[in-house]
Amino acid sequence: MKSYRKEFMIHTKERYAIVRITDRVEEALRESGIREGLCLVNPMHITASVFINDDERGLHSDFLAWLEKIAPYDRNGYRHNTGEDNADAHLKRAIMGREAVVAVTDGRLDFGTWEQIFYGEFDGRRDKRVLMKIIGE
Ligand code: ZN
Repeated sequence: MKSYRKEFMIHTKERYAIVRITDRVEEALRESGIREGLCLVNPMHITASVFINDDERGLHSDFLAWLEKIAPYDRNGYRHNTGEDNADAHLKRAIMGREAVVAVTDGRLDFGTWEQIFYGEFDGRRDKRVLMKIIGE
C-alpha cells in the first residue's frame, strides 16, 4: 500500500469564507500516483471545516447565513471568548464537520454528479493549513 501526504495553505481576506479546493486535492492525487484507495482532506485548525457539497454561490451564502443564525458572532456572549472572540467559529466548524473522505477509483476522485470539496473558513484573515492524506495502491 502506498501513502501520500501533502499540506497547502489558505489565507482568506474575510473572516468567513467558503473556498472550492477540489483542484488542489486532484493535484495531490495525481502526484501520489495512487489509482485505488481513499483520500482524506481536513483543516489543521478547529475553526475551519472541509466538506463536500454543491458549487453554487447562492447555496454558499445560504450556508453562511444559516450558520450565523445557529451560532452567531457574539464577542461577549460565549464563555470561550475570554481574550479571543472566535467561539462562534468553533461552533460553526462543529456543525460543518472536520473532514471529507473521497473514494479514489481509477486514479480519480469518485464523486457524485454535483459533489465538490470545499474549505469552510470561520475565523479567517490568517494562514491556515489543510492536510491531504491519500492511501491505496
Ligand atoms: Zn477559540
